[in-house]
Amino acid sequence: MDFAIPEMVTKELEQFKGFLRTHLEPHLATWYKKEAIPRELFQSMGQDGWLGFSQENGHIVEQSALRQTILQENLAKISPGVAVAVLVQNSLGMVPLFLFGSEKQKQNHLPSAVRGETLLCLGNTEHKAGSDVANVRMQAENVEGGWVLNGTKAYVTNGAISDLALVTAISDPEAARNRRLSMFLVDLSSPGVSRKKLNKRVWIPSDLTRLQFNNVFVPDENLVGQRGKGLQQVLATFTHSRIPISGLTLGTAVGAFEAGLDRAKKREIFGQKIADFQAKSFEIADFFTRIEAARLLVLKAGWTKDQGKDFRMEASMAKYLTVEIARGVGLWAADLFGAASVMQDHPVHKFPLDAWASSLGEGTQDVQKLIIFREIMKR
Ligand SMILES: Cc1cc2nc3c(=O)[nH]c(=O)nc-3n(C[C@H](O)[C@H](O)[C@H](O)COP(=O)(O)OP(=O)(O)OC[C@H]3O[C@@H](n4cnc5c(N)ncnc54)[C@H](O)[C@@H]3O)c2cc1C
Repeated sequence: MDFAIPEMVTKELEQFKGFLRTHLEPHLATWYKKEAIPRELFQSMGQDGWLGFSQENGHIVEQSALRQTILQENLAKISPGVAVAVLVQNSLGMVPLFLFGSEKQKQNHLPSAVRGETLLCLGNTEHKAGSDVANVRMQAENVEGGWVLNGTKAYVTNGAISDLALVTAISDPEAARNRRLSMFLVDLSSPGVSRKKLNKRVWIPSDLTRLQFNNVFVPDENLVGQRGKGLQQVLATFTHSRIPISGLTLGTAVGAFEAGLDRAKKREIFGQKIADFQAKSFEIADFFTRIEAARLLVLKAGWTKDQGKDFRMEASMAKYLTVEIARGVGLWAADLFGAASVMQDHPVHKFPLDAWASSLGEGTQDVQKLIIFREIMKR
């Protein structure tokens, strides 16, 4: 197996770091204060080709998963909250449209989404449908020319800023559990849609929003993919996005580790640097090793997808391991800053909280273990 990162990706990463220095770092403090990400960030990312897809000869092409994970790691190292907003646009918004949308839907929406002008989000989770993805209660009633949606999507990242939402709803109430959901593309400016931004404390400055649908009309042409295949489509979407979220979670661990290491090298206690206590030096060695192991698994997941192979097991293993490590490193790094770490605007404060958030998005740790076990039994 070749562990080398392709030269092209290494080159692009340098450009991406330059982009982050100009378009992200100077504004972060304001965005964290306002708990909001301006639309202009998506537009400038789109202009420079950082939104996961590209337009080549009039066609939309998905970029390499390996490249995506590396970009996610480097963005999340600075801000996991911004990284998740970008991930949602790419992997929960564009990916299902790319995989399941009609030619017309793709032509109408993907080019402007790739440019960061149209913002997308995905709503599946409801109060009774989280890990139990199929337990959606939202109704889609078939009427002349389309569908009428009623129900609530409880937790939608980017719900406050998006133009369009992909949502799952029951289109066929009499059908079996795995054939009764369909996926719809909803214009969030439609009459009957209301949004409530929630007061979450993780993944700041991205938003988490409740979307309510009250007799919202959706034309037939906005059914995404096949009627009755909504469950399979949303599960496939989560499988795809587990690779970039592993990159994001790895970045969360790396950001925390670098902050902790810096503190350990500088802070003097009892007349010596924290890093000079052997107990702490062992922790540094241990976390560094675990992070490198997680990085190899994340890269393997991206590489497996890029090879066109089945990546379900690799994606879940990468998600599972990165979350375990990010949770440990996040708290460790915060500990090294002592009392200062509990201040909301301290740079280390976000890492343990954002590692916690990573454990929920795209399935909890228990859900990853269920998937890994299922794949083991198949092999
Ligand atoms: C910050 C944030 C952003 C989010 N963004 C989105 C979004 O954009 N779109 C969207 O649709 N959703 C989103 N979600 C929702 C997220 O996908 C769900 O929170 C997640 O799937 C877990 O569902 P739940 O919260 O209902 O927990 P539950 O499913 O109720 O789980 C509760 C506990 O039970 C455990 N458990 C569940 N099933 C099993 C089992 N079979 N065996 C053993 N243990 C089990 C879980 O691991 C967990 O510990 C977001 C959540 C957060 C926190």
